[in-house]
Amino acid sequence: MTRYTKTKKDKKKRARRRADAATQTTTRRSSHCKRRKQQFLTYDKFREDIIANEECVLNWCMNNNLLAKKQWCPECRTEMKLKSTKDRGDGWMWLCRRRVGLGKEHRVETSIRKGSVFEDSKLSLSEILQFIYWWCLDVPQNHIRQQTGFSKHTTCSWHMKCREICEFALLSDSVKIGGKLIFLLFKSNYVYSR
Ligand SMILES: [Zn+2]
Repeated sequence: MTRYTKTKKDKKKRARRRADAATQTTTRRSSHCKRRKQQFLTYDKFREDIIANEECVLNWCMNNNLLAKKQWCPECRTEMKLKSTKDRGDGWMWLCRRRVGLGKEHRVETSIRKGSVFEDSKLSLSEILQFIYWWCLDVPQNHIRQQTGFSKHTTCSWHMKCREICEFALLSDSVKIGGKLIFLLFKSNYVYSR
């Protein structure tokens, strides 16, 4: 009867397997940590990256489908142009100055908020995003009021709005709201846990 004895080769193989497994676990753990870190948006980063100025707000909202990236002129049905403007609080507007046939050039302006969750609000986009930031972190309404300077009524109504949006998104198992991706407001887990 031959008895199996561990050769040097076997030992080496086992050691290599153990090392490979350890590396895989570490890689998995570190990438998971990275993901967790990336998911959390600190207030400093939020101010720096998202609400630093009107252009940042606009880009962020468009990239996250909170604002439409295209708008069509109701007069000539062609794509409107995005223009910066000092006449509107948001600093941007959709504009069409096309000539249809032999007629005069028309001028049609549309708000960048058209069709978005911000449409009916008088608050600036930056103010609303600040509210959403604190709301996503489950901060109590009175503390949000302190941070944003919003009235009780405004805080309450945005609280309801955010709740409705998230409830709808969760119930419908979809993040599409009115054709736009709302979501996940700051891609934060907090929204999901509400
Ligand atoms: Zn037009």
